[in-house]
Amino acid sequence: MLDNNPDEVISVSILRELTDLAIDAQKNAYVPYSGFSVGTALITQSGEKFRGCNVENAAYPLGACAESNAIAAMVCGASGDADHVPIIDHIVVVGPLDNLCAPCGGCRQKINEFADANTRVHLVNKSGKLLHSSPIQSLLPLAFGPHDLSLNKTKNYKAKKPQ
Ligand SMILES: [Zn+2]
Repeated sequence: MLDNNPDEVISVSILRELTDLAIDAQKNAYVPYSGFSVGTALITQSGEKFRGCNVENAAYPLGACAESNAIAAMVCGASGDADHVPIIDHIVVVGPLDNLCAPCGGCRQKINEFADANTRVHLVNKSGKLLHSSPIQSLLPLAFGPHDLSLNKTKNYKAKKPQ
């Protein structure tokens, strides 16, 4: 389901590039237990792109989702100063099925941590076809987020250096 024309919120070329990056990441998924490979690619508001794939573990609860790993890569690799939290502009999720693969509840919360009102989630099937596009708020209504803890996303979000 597309809640509006995705062409109005993301260029066709950026959507194609993120989809290709996500499909490429999906190929690296470590999924020996489920065989359910997922790839994700995101672009920040400053134009940097990061990818992630899911990584399972023999201790099942320790497995990590593709979205979560892409966000970790973003936090680790985003350029810029310590006073600006990277904000996700668009995130594409590619699943291994013909139907869409929606982010789990935990990943919706993790995306929301690095989102604003313009952050959009795009869900693509295994063939690269866009099946759903919506703001993160519609996937996580009434979200508990940084604003609830009065976090100012523009200042001092990184750990202070030891004195
Ligand atoms: Zn997840």
